[in-house]
Amino acid sequence: MSLLAKQLPALISAIIQTINNNADEVAELDRAIGDGDHVVNLQRGLEALEKLNDELAHLEWSPALMKIGMTLMSTMGGASGSLFGTLFISMAKASKGKALDFTVFAQVFNQGVEAVKQRGKADLGEKTMLDTLIPVANTLITDANNHIELTKALTNAKVTAMAGMQSTKEMIATKGRASFLGERAIGHIDAGARTSQLMICAIADVLIND
Ligand code: ADP
Ligand code: MG
Repeated sequence: MSLLAKQLPALISAIIQTINNNADEVAELDRAIGDGDHVVNLQRGLEALEKLNDELAHLEWSPALMKIGMTLMSTMGGASGSLFGTLFISMAKASKGKALDFTVFAQVFNQGVEAVKQRGKADLGEKTMLDTLIPVANTLITDANNHIELTKALTNAKVTAMAGMQSTKEMIATKGRASFLGERAIGHIDAGARTSQLMICAIADVLIND
């Protein structure tokens, strides 16, 4: 199966829906161990993306991903704005001139996540969005290498995203605002890990039902 950039509007509206449906919960998570603005930052970015839908649907993958990254970078604000922006801008660079079949997508996503690690100077286990993104990138690569069928691989990605998001609950934060709280951050899921999981699950569901 080849992924098509013209699927982007459907993916973006599924993402908007899941973030809006869970906005109160995400706001509460960021209020508990951050400053409460994560979901509003993300919604601002997503609204800007929705306005670009017509334009995005006519672009190739690489320029579409670049446009998404630049838009998130310039509209979202917060730590997450530059990190999600970086994710898509690096995916744009990694996908230049390529058709995105599942194997290529797994590699492109992996490079995007590597760039987020560098930008945030963070890694697995620091109670951030990376605790969702890194395990999902690893699962995609493993499943692509093992020629796992797409629907199964997408289901694996969802399960992995859920487990990664949940894993942040018992962690102490060593990056971002939550790191100021020390042990008091324990017991709360990281907001960026939750929104990353929600977005990954929404994307997977659209592609599974395609
Ligand atoms: P801010 O922290 O500036 O208010 P947001 O609330 O929009 O920004 O985003 C907070 C989220 O960003 C956190 O929940 C966490 O997942 C993520 N985050 C913060 N710092 C880092 C970092 N250094 N590396 C990776 N993710 C980070
Ligand atoms: Mg915040």
